[in-house]
Amino acid sequence: MTTAPARPTVIAPGLDGVPTDVDLVVVGLGVTGAGVALDAATRGLRVLAVDAHDLAFGTSRWSSKLVHGGLRYLAQGQVGVARESAAERGILMDVTAPHLTHPMPMLLPLTSGVTRRQATLTRAGLLAGDLLRRGAHTPVETLPRPRRLTATEALQLAPPLRPAGLRGGLLSWDGRLEDDARLVTTIARTAAQHGAHVRTRARVLSATGSGVELRDERTGARVTVTARSVVNATGVWAGDLVDEVVLRPSRGTHLVLRGDCLPGLAVSVFAPVPGATNRFVLVLPQPDGTVYVGLTDEPVTGAVPDVPEPSEPEIGFLLDVVSAAFSRPLHRGDVVGAFAGLRPLLDTGDGSTADLSRRHAVLTSRTGVITVVGGKLTTYRRMAEDAVDAAVAHAHLPARPCRTHRLPLTGAAPRPVLAALEDPPRLVRRYGTDAALVLATAREVSGLGDAELLAPLAPHVPATLAELVFGVTHEGAADVDDLLDRRTRVGLVPADREAARPAAERALELAQAHRRAPHR
Ligand SMILES: Cc1cc2nc3c(=O)[nH]c(=O)nc-3n(C[C@H](O)[C@H](O)[C@H](O)COP(=O)(O)OP(=O)(O)OC[C@H]3O[C@@H](n4cnc5c(N)ncnc54)[C@H](O)[C@@H]3O)c2cc1C
Repeated sequence: MTTAPARPTVIAPGLDGVPTDVDLVVVGLGVTGAGVALDAATRGLRVLAVDAHDLAFGTSRWSSKLVHGGLRYLAQGQVGVARESAAERGILMDVTAPHLTHPMPMLLPLTSGVTRRQATLTRAGLLAGDLLRRGAHTPVETLPRPRRLTATEALQLAPPLRPAGLRGGLLSWDGRLEDDARLVTTIARTAAQHGAHVRTRARVLSATGSGVELRDERTGARVTVTARSVVNATGVWAGDLVDEVVLRPSRGTHLVLRGDCLPGLAVSVFAPVPGATNRFVLVLPQPDGTVYVGLTDEPVTGAVPDVPEPSEPEIGFLLDVVSAAFSRPLHRGDVVGAFAGLRPLLDTGDGSTADLSRRHAVLTSRTGVITVVGGKLTTYRRMAEDAVDAAVAHAHLPARPCRTHRLPLTGAAPRPVLAALEDPPRLVRRYGTDAALVLATAREVSGLGDAELLAPLAPHVPATLAELVFGVTHEGAADVDDLLDRRTRVGLVPADREAARPAAERALELAQAHRRAPHR
């Protein structure tokens, strides 16, 4: 594997000292924009990448955190999209981000709500999905083959399932992200290591194919930047910058439960929606001890909100479906957090819409702005490649060929190397081989011992002070929200967020004091 050049990783808020003439400006630092910044920087282009708020502020932090192999698309006959998903899943899990991805066992319980015909069709689909895995050269060591389970085996993997009427289960494997926002942060850091200028709190007020007008969201200062190409990667906000792009979002909601609501759950479960054919709610155990339950699909009208809010009917629907599949009924009081993200639907101009959550679109505007929208976290790399290819062709940029399919993100290493690391396991899961750098930085900046730096921030909150300090020193975190909502995901549970707030304030103070007097 190639290693990144040893450059300082500068991700900073605001526009002080920003370059005013670059090859490519990327607007938006979700997974797509961060991917574009990395792709363009590693082709030798001078890149400025900005976000109005923070890294992963938008949809990218509200996902189900799955690395999809494309089974869903196969079921809809979209073989090309399915193949692309499986290929990108393999690249993420084996080359670019083995440290941030994990194999995830998924169980479809064969309850009375799943007919024998449905079970046979699903089994055939899983076997076809396994062919895609093989076609993508993803080894069984990374993603084992699907298999049929007896009812006893299904209950061993998912003890809280309702046993009455259970005739067995179908077990399959897909990928899971440690944390979607961490993937974005890691891509952005890698882009910065390769020379991209990465700025948060920098809003693009207007864009053409030859430049942007920016506003520093902290000071209000405005800066004009000339560029040979501009890529609009602002997700569901893409139409605000380029009026030819008309999007109609739809909301997807997840609940957050404590793990003890569904004790012993060792796999993700497809909970069948009662009365519907082939519709499921996903129950997804997370590494921090919580369980996510999702997903809904609700049309959204009016202005696109900065942070979408789940509705009470969506919460009720998800609780009802899970209560039907598991022995213990779930109640509103079991919901310790809930979050929602927006999918973009592209208005095709003839009164219909195209669901861009399957396939992404690259569109060139009248003034030459390249918009890249839709797709998935899983396919971000391919989306970035397509967008930069379009920019290079349109503006005749002197760029080298794309190489991100064989470029490990910072901290990546083969799974056996990661397994042999002796650093704290939580840091290895979130930073890979950079775990040692995280701890060394926190020690140097704070002067504290490991016991304090690595202790869970609060009951139920496994995040550590070491991570928060590193968020400030190396990942551009500028305030408590950046630290608790994006560099870590403590904020997904409001009560945990309040408990961890003093630690986040302390990390900011420690980093500031160190900046003022580095050799205390
Ligand atoms: C509910 C839900 C669940 C999903 N689950 C999965 C999953 O499990 N696996 C998967 O692979 N995919 C999943 N997806 C899809 C995936 O999350 C999205 O495709 C992806 O995150 C979109 O990223 P993006 O970078 O294009 O947009 P965003 O993440 O929304 O980023 C856009 C950024 O642009 C910034 N911005 C906007 N306007 C401006 C401006 N004027 N100036 C500067 N910055 C600006 C915003 O602040 C934001 O940070 C899911 C999607 C949804 C909605």
